[in-house]
Amino acid sequence: MKQAALLLELQRLDLEITHSRKRLEELPEKQAILDLRHKIRDVSALRRKAEVLVGKLNADLKAHQDEIEGLTVKIDAEQAKIMSTSDHREVASLTREMDGLRRRKDKLEMESLGLMDRIDKATVQSATIDAAIEQLTQKEGDAIERFKSVGGALQTETAQLEAQRVKVAAALEKPTLSEYESIRESKGGVGVGRLESDTCSACRMSLPAERISHLTSGPDIAICPQCHRLIVVRTDDE
Ligand SMILES: [Zn+2]
Repeated sequence: MKQAALLLELQRLDLEITHSRKRLEELPEKQAILDLRHKIRDVSALRRKAEVLVGKLNADLKAHQDEIEGLTVKIDAEQAKIMSTSDHREVASLTREMDGLRRRKDKLEMESLGLMDRIDKATVQSATIDAAIEQLTQKEGDAIERFKSVGGALQTETAQLEAQRVKVAAALEKPTLSEYESIRESKGGVGVGRLESDTCSACRMSLPAERISHLTSGPDIAICPQCHRLIVVRTDDE
């Protein structure tokens, strides 16, 4: 194949590769996977919050229980002192002290019950969240499977086009290839047009007669005077 024909073939392959990648990118299964991952992230954040809450509640409960234990020891000691003295004033004072300790202990015991209740609820909530995460992960797995089967064909197609492109690009002269690539980059994916009667197929502008005759009397590959892309004036079969 001559350079001009190779150049047009390269452009054709590049457009097909772009199209094929876009279709892969826009597969609804892909969006489904992204949406599920987003949800899993959100729910996992809730899970961590619930864990922190349970940890805090357990620490509170432990502190309450420790204090209750300490108070029990103190109350027992006061009780023993009351039993061992016959001094009325001392008995009265110890009794007041003991009453205070008992009120504190009662309060802590009530609070402990409340904490246990909250721990139970938070634990149930964590289990619900775990189940939701498991369900979402399962759905994500299903979506990935669907994406693989639908996208697999497209990926194969893209890979084949890319392999063809490598061959065509290797057969092109280096300066032509790099000129094409830099124009393609700056001009929306189209680096080369073709002269079709008096029109450039890339910019669809009809060119004045003297430009046409200038092009047709020149080399196979030139520059379009309108869009400044490469323009193939003729290929081998012309
Ligand atoms: Zn043009």
